Amino acid sequence: MSDSTPKKKSVRIPRQKMPTQDPKLRVRNFNEVNLGFDAEIAQKEAERCLQCAKPLCVEGCPVNINIPEFIKLIKEGEIQEAVRSIKEYNILPAICGRVCQQENQCESKCVMRKRFKSVAIGSLERFIADWERANQLKECPDCEAPNNIKVAIIGSGPAGLTCAADMARFGYEVTIFEAFHKGGGVLVYGIPEFRLPKEIVEDEIETLKMLGITIEYNMIIGKVLSIDDLKSMGFKAIFIGIGAGSPRFLGLPGENLRGIVSANEYLTRTNLMKAYDFPRFKTPIVKGKNIVVIGGGNTAMDSARTALRLGANTVTIVYRRAMEQLPARLEEVHHGEEEGIIFKLLTNPIRFIGDEEGKVKEMEVIQMKLGEPDESGRARPIPIENSEFIIKTDLVIIGIGNNSNPLLTSTYPALELNKWGYIVTDEIGKTNVEGIYAGGDIVTGAATVISAMGAGRKAAKAMNQYLKLK
Ligand SMILES: Cc1cc2nc3c(=O)[nH]c(=O)nc-3n(C[C@H](O)[C@H](O)[C@H](O)COP(=O)(O)OP(=O)(O)OC[C@H]3O[C@@H](n4cnc5c(N)ncnc54)[C@H](O)[C@@H]3O)c2cc1C
Repeated sequence: MSDSTPKKKSVRIPRQKMPTQDPKLRVRNFNEVNLGFDAEIAQKEAERCLQCAKPLCVEGCPVNINIPEFIKLIKEGEIQEAVRSIKEYNILPAICGRVCQQENQCESKCVMRKRFKSVAIGSLERFIADWERANQLKECPDCEAPNNIKVAIIGSGPAGLTCAADMARFGYEVTIFEAFHKGGGVLVYGIPEFRLPKEIVEDEIETLKMLGITIEYNMIIGKVLSIDDLKSMGFKAIFIGIGAGSPRFLGLPGENLRGIVSANEYLTRTNLMKAYDFPRFKTPIVKGKNIVVIGGGNTAMDSARTALRLGANTVTIVYRRAMEQLPARLEEVHHGEEEGIIFKLLTNPIRFIGDEEGKVKEMEVIQMKLGEPDESGRARPIPIENSEFIIKTDLVIIGIGNNSNPLLTSTYPALELNKWGYIVTDEIGKTNVEGIYAGGDIVTGAATVISAMGAGRKAAKAMNQYLKLK
């Protein structure tokens, strides 16, 4: 093969770097950290794609976006066609391009990965979605003719939004019932503005409205309306995508002291209730100077980086495994390091110690070592005897994950749940109750945006088949 073959040319181009806000500045503002590719960088990056005959990246994407196609269109400068191509598969590209865990999904399968670094698929996805917004265009996929059959979607997170969009495209009359006053689920109440601006989420939800979907806000199903109410309102099939929004705690002595909060509450106050936009919004939020965040996933990383932006002097992540096992997105860990987050790894809390007013002042921790893999397949953390020490702190944020919220499921006992309270479904999202489907975190436990979207898509396909047979 000569040096001028397209393949040789592709591998000679280095992976293009995402331009970012300077860490020294961004650490005190909530503006987006990643600034996005411009057309020139995007085209250069698109040239790296080898256009594999059997593209493994597509298999790595739970919604099976035709990745080589949209990258080829970028390379050819046909950006509007690229938008059209991506929206056939993914109604939320500006969101996925920003927060998907690409290193474990599409990019992990890229054949360039081992020797030359994978193609920056996520950044390219974001580029075309941002280009569409910047040019005030709004591509909306086609729908089949309306069939006047009503379906209800409970929850407007990525699972519910994807299921709703696919059902609308099949011709159904779709209503989403959302407990909060805003749509998007974790995308609006969990993930901070500096990673995913709220206006991006609002904008992508607008595309759903163009498909004719109605969203009913402030509708807690299980409180305001029951599942039986929905059935009697004429909804012929129901999808439950209510996520796993109940914070998990450690169960350690002193955990009820003042100054110890769940990441869930901390992030919801900051994002959904807009404490980040002070003084425009005067949302009360606990502040600290030397903050400890417990956990190593996206929730913990988001809390830590939010704490810095809300004015902390130091923020320390306490995580019981090592750096390699941190479950957070690689990019967020890297950005957190640049921003000065301190990582106390292989460290586990034992108890919290308060002052005479019942406010946390210290926490006792113990050092850990890694043993054989546990049932999750990750190395088991084991405490090292006599290695306890004290960390001084005035605010502890617990970000060790979420559990299922029983608010809906407890009011509909016919639904089969597993021992953790998650809804049991088959692989296409069908529950044990006829006409009721479920997907996303309420089935799998806390997972990812794109896996929730994949579950919403599978369930929509199954619901369509069920309703057609009926
Ligand atoms: C802080 C944080 C950061 C994260 N970062 C990332 C990331 O960078 N990348 C990634 O891939 N994943 C990330 N995740 C995980 C990802 O966001 C979730 O896996 C995903 O949002 C799950 O989607 P879902 O639709 O199942 O549920 P959710 O997003 O939780 O949405 C559920 C929706 O249902 C509504 N609801 C709940 N109960 C009811 C009811 N009874 N009636 C009506 N509505 C109801 C809720 O208000 C919510 O809007 C993160 C999670 C958190 C918490």
